[in-house]
Amino acid sequence: MSRFILILTWLCVSTVNALESTNIRITHSLIYDAHKANISQQTVDNIVRIFSWRIDFNRDLRKGDRFVIVGKKNTAPSALIYISGKKRIGVFSYVDKYGRFGYYDVNGKTLYPTFLKAPLKYRRISSEFQPQRFHPILKTYLFHGGVDYVANTGTPVYAVADGVIKHRKRMGGFGKYVHITHGSNYATIYAHLSRYASGLKRSSKVKKGQVIGYVGSTGRSTGPHLHYELHYKGKRRNPLKWSLPQRKSVAKSDLARFQNRAKSILRKL
Ligand SMILES: [Zn+2]
Repeated sequence: MSRFILILTWLCVSTVNALESTNIRITHSLIYDAHKANISQQTVDNIVRIFSWRIDFNRDLRKGDRFVIVGKKNTAPSALIYISGKKRIGVFSYVDKYGRFGYYDVNGKTLYPTFLKAPLKYRRISSEFQPQRFHPILKTYLFHGGVDYVANTGTPVYAVADGVIKHRKRMGGFGKYVHITHGSNYATIYAHLSRYASGLKRSSKVKKGQVIGYVGSTGRSTGPHLHYELHYKGKRRNPLKWSLPQRKSVAKSDLARFQNRAKSILRKL
């Protein structure tokens, strides 16, 4: 058995030895430096999609940071690793039992987070996402691009997933409003708040379940409720129907092998 493991380890290590790797060293921006390193747009898109759950590409990236692409740089690399002075985040390729190719961290988890089902404890839903709705104040038919959750003034409102505050300000009919981005594709909006959570400002990082504000009736509102929106790729989606990303894990039976491979790649950097 131990000889078998030895051979397996040797096989893994020698495979890694034979693997090529490409560095993107940041001098200007990811796009610019990736282009200079002949990295395809598809690989750059993958890097942004995967790492934007952990890195704010506008604020966190520094000169001298690097992305290491292990394996074939433009067709399904076997690992993508971000290295800065402060941290190292690596993801490693894995094909699940359904044949789906994806990237998982050294613990065997995808980087994208799970989302809360709802951003607060609410009493009822007074208005669902609908293309046309008669607005009680404006007396006209309007697109309702979110869900209205009725709750008492002061009920805590939670960030539905890890993210970064993009706006925290008054916004016309929305009243006191918070806009959070989650990775590169998702954003959520929380409107009519009575007040914001203390210490929260533009560019603050928030965790899933963190209180970001409190239910109110600021802006164009007939009573205390939370207007909540979910955006995917810049478009409003129905929060009650949209299938959100679910954090996935490497199968238990594959985990030891997956982690050995990941660790041997990291040792080679
Ligand atoms: Zn609404």
